[in-house]
Formats: sequence, structure tokens, C-alpha cells
Amino acid sequence: MSEQQLIGNVTCPKCKHVQPMKIPTNSCRAFYKCEGCEEVISAEKSCCVFCDYGDRPCPVSSEHK
Ligand SMILES: [Zn+2]
Ligand SMILES: [Zn+2]
Repeated sequence: MSEQQLIGNVTCPKCKHVQPMKIPTNSCRAFYKCEGCEEVISAEKSCCVFCDYGDRPCPVSSEHK
């Protein structure tokens, strides 16, 4: 069985473009470049862009609960 890959749909806070991205399982992704408006979006409220703008929190943050 191949390793399961988590995909999170991150919504850009500036242009609302929804971008599916692979969620790293052992680290936090603090920023990404939006394909819609080409802005670099960084996380402000939580550890990463998936927790801030995504449809699911990253696995790193759920371990900390
Ligand atoms: Zn955007
Ligand atoms: Zn996170």
C-alpha cells in the first residue's frame, strides 16, 4: 500500500482562489504562493496555511491537541 497523501484545499484570503495542495505530514507550511493572484500568502493565526485558510487542519496541529 502506498503512503497516503493528504490534500488540503486552501482558499486565498485575497482573491478566494481555491488551491489544492499536498499537506506535509511532519512539518508546517507557513506560506504558499496563490495561483490566482500570485500573492505569497502566509499563515497568521495558526501554524500553517492549512489551519488558517484550508478546509482541514494539518496533522501536526491535531497531534498537539
Ligand atoms: Zn489569491
Ligand atoms: Zn497547521
